[in-house]
Amino acid sequence: MVGIVVVSHSPDLARAAVTLALQMVHGSAPRIEVAAGTSDDRLGTDAAAVAEAVVAADDGEGVVVIMDLGSAVLSAELALELLPDPGIRTRLVSAAFVEGIFAAAVSAAAGAQLDVVARDAAEALDAKAAQLGQTQPPTGAHDSITPPAAVVAKATIVNADGIHARPAARIVATLASLDARVTIATERSAPVSARSPTALMSLGTRIGDVLRIEADGVDAAAAADRIAALVSDGFSELAGRDRLGPEASDRDQLSPSIGVSPGRVVGPALRMPDPIAAPDPTIRIPEAERPAAIEQLTSVAADIAEQLRSRSPAAGTVGQLLEATAAIATDPDLISDASRRIRDRGLTPERAAWEAIDSVADTLRAAGPRQAERVSDLYDIRNRMVSSLTGRAIPGVVDPGHPFVLLAVDLAPADTAGLERTRCLAIVTEEGGATSHTAIIARSLGIPAVVGVRGATAIPDGTVLLVDGKTGEVIKEPTVDQRATAATVSQPREMLISPGGTADGHRIALLANIGSAHEIAAALECGAEGVGLYRTELSFLGWTEAPSVGEQVSTYRTVFSRFGGRRVVVRTLDAGSDKPMPFLGQAAEPNPALGVRGFRTAASHPEVLHDQLDAVKEAAAAESADVWVMAPMISTVDEVRIFARAAHDAGLPVIGAMIETPAAALRAELILAEVDFVSIGTNDLAQYTFAADRHAASLAPLNDPWQPALLRMIEMVTTAADPRGKPVGVCGEAAADPLLAPVLAGLGISSLSMASGALAEVGRSLAAVTLEVCRRAARAACDSESPAAAREAVRAIIST
Ligand code: PEP
Ligand code: MG
Repeated sequence: MVGIVVVSHSPDLARAAVTLALQMVHGSAPRIEVAAGTSDDRLGTDAAAVAEAVVAADDGEGVVVIMDLGSAVLSAELALELLPDPGIRTRLVSAAFVEGIFAAAVSAAAGAQLDVVARDAAEALDAKAAQLGQTQPPTGAHDSITPPAAVVAKATIVNADGIHARPAARIVATLASLDARVTIATERSAPVSARSPTALMSLGTRIGDVLRIEADGVDAAAAADRIAALVSDGFSELAGRDRLGPEASDRDQLSPSIGVSPGRVVGPALRMPDPIAAPDPTIRIPEAERPAAIEQLTSVAADIAEQLRSRSPAAGTVGQLLEATAAIATDPDLISDASRRIRDRGLTPERAAWEAIDSVADTLRAAGPRQAERVSDLYDIRNRMVSSLTGRAIPGVVDPGHPFVLLAVDLAPADTAGLERTRCLAIVTEEGGATSHTAIIARSLGIPAVVGVRGATAIPDGTVLLVDGKTGEVIKEPTVDQRATAATVSQPREMLISPGGTADGHRIALLANIGSAHEIAAALECGAEGVGLYRTELSFLGWTEAPSVGEQVSTYRTVFSRFGGRRVVVRTLDAGSDKPMPFLGQAAEPNPALGVRGFRTAASHPEVLHDQLDAVKEAAAAESADVWVMAPMISTVDEVRIFARAAHDAGLPVIGAMIETPAAALRAELILAEVDFVSIGTNDLAQYTFAADRHAASLAPLNDPWQPALLRMIEMVTTAADPRGKPVGVCGEAAADPLLAPVLAGLGISSLSMASGALAEVGRSLAAVTLEVCRRAARAACDSESPAAAREAVRAIIST
């Protein structure tokens, strides 16, 4: 692309103008270098700095230089004499500063050649001048002596905002590859050059305006046709079913965004309601009002049961579950307990319902894991009752009865209990990065997801959204053509067809990450060789009492029994931070990600660790899975020793540690001396290496698993493991990236554990390369300067 250098007396002025111009550029932006101010921070210009900027901006296509005034022009001229490489093609342009930068940026981004970019910049002021009636019509305008155009086309504006910035940029981009001189006029205004975005915007077009498109030159016909087609298509800003709708200007690609779980789907939006807070326990209602409150509670409970039954299909598992939940709502014991709380203590009906249901939940949990599974149904009823009694929207994902695209600020594991991939077509969140819970949950469920989409929760329910979890695109009210590119129902999962390994037979075990029952099914369906990360804490989130050994044995057996003869790596409770476990009685922490989490909780609650290890041992003894155990969030050798001793005492044969902190990576050799294997949790390892919250969308680039610093950390661990020959796995989200898989294999990783949906593609990617290629890819990635450079280097190696 042609580069641009902006020369100004003021760095602030230059940066502001560049920022404004870049707003109009979509897709890749040209290199724009600023040479502004003097070396001692005063207003002025510096020829040497301009020369440096020209060199930096050139990628072989030449550089357009735009200056503000006076000495800026002299400095730019002198700079060209100072250039170390006289071969760099440059054009100093006498363009209006703001308009010129804007036009040059759009034109360069569209792929125009050096002289075209320079001309577009130079002509950028013509339209404004013509509009103010202060000059002759701009270049390209027709007057009486201009010969008639070769091609004339007409098109009617159908989008609400006409040719605003984005459509103008699209017209310019469309013309970039065509050899034609094109003007556009309306009935109210003189023709302007169709290659000038500012001129196009100055036409002030509105819906219903008829444009006259005139074109000359070799590609005149194609140019006129393509512009007419763009205009008639509303510049892709229209919904297929509502082409002239009033909200057309809202229809847009939402950005910035990060695709974190692949799949391209289209469906109506559904916003996740706010969570329900516990009703105030201190309010008392007068005695005289209590009978009416009891009546209100009873009738709300009956209404909720009725709503659930009316959504219930006549038969099948879902129908039975909804019927069971409806029955809970009108359970006479529950209603009489809540009524007593109103009658005797004067609680509000919502508080009475809250307390009564909490008490049943406690009883169910104590009754064993099978009964505990119903607790989420109870909470569903509780939330419905409280919201109905207080006139609020029901929290959590309430199935609207049709497939939907879920919109939320961010998702915690508990929010998505019961989220069905057949119902939830896609997830779009405002917060989160590639390793945030939303991303992990979405991948594990096989639901396409995009995170970091600002304003997502402001989109009204029912708005049709197209979501592409690979590219990160989220398009409101897509056109008919766009919709045709996406699925309207969830896609079947792909299966891993052969055990993991490179083309020359180097084995890499391909395992699944699981945390709940539905993930077991997905792992089996996708052909996982085993489980590389069993997140046990997800079974006990929110529990107020520690699960007993018996409860845990039953939970773990459910998993082990499904993976008979296969490896299952059990991670002990990774409590704390965003995975609350009230039974650990943790105090609120100012910075929980850096607080008492993971293995650190064992210091204050050793009995919880010992019970869990005993339960894992007992469950393993009863089933035939090859059970390994590991501890999360290890940061010192002492911690590993304590864990290894406890696991050994519990009789567990294969003991490991997670490498999730830079401290653990640095001490990998000593840690490996204590255990049989390690597994690298790249999600946390990245967050702690870069001191960048993995849930913060704005920091997602730092948590990119392709960051060479993270890859070097992994290399440090595999190098330490090599002499001992102990296995090193990766179980963070990095393992699910098919392009990264050869890099990890080349670094010496022996297993990759990931969301099941990624298994097939990762398997294919490994099977296409030899170990030698993997090693070269690993070296190149580790030695790259940036994630982008690492990706590019690896792609080049793999494709040769
Ligand atoms: C990790 O940190 O990479 C990991 C696998 O653990 P979690 O994502 O559960 O924190
Ligand atoms: Mg972790």
